[in-house]
Amino acid sequence: MTSTLPNGLSSRTVVPPALSQSLSRRIRERLQAKGVSFLANDNISDHLLEGELEQLQVEVADKVRDLLQSLVIDIDNDHNTEETAERVSKMYLHEVFKGRYHKQPKIASFPNVKELDEIYTVGPISVRSACSHHLVPILGSCWIGIKPGDRVIGLSKFSRVADWVFSRPHIQEEAVIILADEIERLCEPKGLAILVKAQHYCMKWRGVKEPQASMVNSVMRGDFRHDPSLKQEFFELVKQQETLLTN
Ligand SMILES: [Zn+2]
Repeated sequence: MTSTLPNGLSSRTVVPPALSQSLSRRIRERLQAKGVSFLANDNISDHLLEGELEQLQVEVADKVRDLLQSLVIDIDNDHNTEETAERVSKMYLHEVFKGRYHKQPKIASFPNVKELDEIYTVGPISVRSACSHHLVPILGSCWIGIKPGDRVIGLSKFSRVADWVFSRPHIQEEAVIILADEIERLCEPKGLAILVKAQHYCMKWRGVKEPQASMVNSVMRGDFRHDPSLKQEFFELVKQQETLLTN
């Protein structure tokens, strides 16, 4: 259907959104019907049907192609951007934002048979994310302090779960809280401390262009929250690890 605009140009009548059959719209409607949150840093993998992620990859590539065309890039003749849309779509769904679309890696916990109750720290764990505001990288390091409870998990598993949580568009403050929730769910420690230090490319690459600025934030749960000396011990251990790395 076309209509004539006052300036004499004709335009296509916009199809009402309700009639749109795109897969992403069907998934969004499904999530809304179930009352499931699908914010940028939520994981929606439990609500995707078999084969939908592959179809979604095609839809996202189409939209990235539209974006490139809107940026007036000659994707038909520019050999450098010929398959950029496909690459970006794959990168979003399966790499940098995989923590939204893929399930948490399997992480087994074991009984704390030796009843360890000394605190230990793991780090630095590399964390890679993207800011929700500009979709540009956040790159940094994370330290995790644990006062064990009844269950323990292997040290390498902290990296796995951090990678999964951070591989979503985030703001750093919320990423740390989501990571803390996941670790508490996995091993129910008596105390949990997390410190993240990261550089935000929305500050380095654009905006104020401060190349050295980084953001540091932490979350304390359980015994680390209630016992200031334990919290102090955690920061001391992190400082020692950082000193060891720089010497
Ligand atoms: Zn930003």
